[in-house]
Amino acid sequence: MTDHAFDRFIPMTTISSGAVQEVLPDLLLYTDQVVNLFFIRKDGGGWILVDAGMPRTGDKILEEAERLFGSAPPEAILLTHGHFDHIGGMDKLMEKWDVPIYAHTLELPFLTGKKDYPEPDPTVEGGMVAKMSGMFPNEGVDLSPRISSLPEDGSVPGLHDWKWLHTPGHSPGHISLFRERDRTLIAGDAFVTVRQDKLFKVLTQEKEISGPPRYLTTDWKAAEQSVSKLAGLKPETAVTGHGLPVSGPELQNGLQQLAENFQSLAVPDHGKYVDGD
Ligand SMILES: [Zn+2]
Repeated sequence: MTDHAFDRFIPMTTISSGAVQEVLPDLLLYTDQVVNLFFIRKDGGGWILVDAGMPRTGDKILEEAERLFGSAPPEAILLTHGHFDHIGGMDKLMEKWDVPIYAHTLELPFLTGKKDYPEPDPTVEGGMVAKMSGMFPNEGVDLSPRISSLPEDGSVPGLHDWKWLHTPGHSPGHISLFRERDRTLIAGDAFVTVRQDKLFKVLTQEKEISGPPRYLTTDWKAAEQSVSKLAGLKPETAVTGHGLPVSGPELQNGLQQLAENFQSLAVPDHGKYVDGD
């Protein structure tokens, strides 16, 4: 099997690439070219990795992890979903760390080599990134035997004060992570804080609470329900798979707007996954 999701370099970047931001004392955001991944620092020591970056960037992720946590591997790796830009570094990470990996049951076929994702839609209404999306790998990868399903009760292995929520639409088994105590949300690509289809906005990371990236989203009805669910949580701080962290009224108003006007703001006017479902 050819692992394009690990091998194919995607020539896109942002002004934040390579930077680590401390969103909260225990939540660090690392921007890997155009995607974010997260290091969660645990109270009594130890840490958890959420998502695994772009293809061919595993060594950079390992370097950053070592700078932050020394040689200690994470206790687990959690995946919001399995698209190429969220698992791209996994080959190197799995070589170095023998740790459990968790994702939603419905995402497992794409993460155990049984199924490929539908092809990205370069014809979808949107900017330059949508047009480039034809080069994005859609093949499933095989992370077995280390990958398994998240517990059904919503608990998150290794993180007792976090819960996972099923937020499908962008992918069938997409999840978000939420911590009630301070209303912190890791939304993956259920919504994002940048217009991910506009190359210039991706580069400058101009903030704009937006629907999931268009070229890879295949179920817009489910995506709309997921955004409603997340808006209903009234998060105080949110980080997403793409774009900068957003908090307070800017976040709550933006998310409410998106939920109420999902059809006009998020759903493309045309595209192969828009009509006829
Ligand atoms: Zn995605």
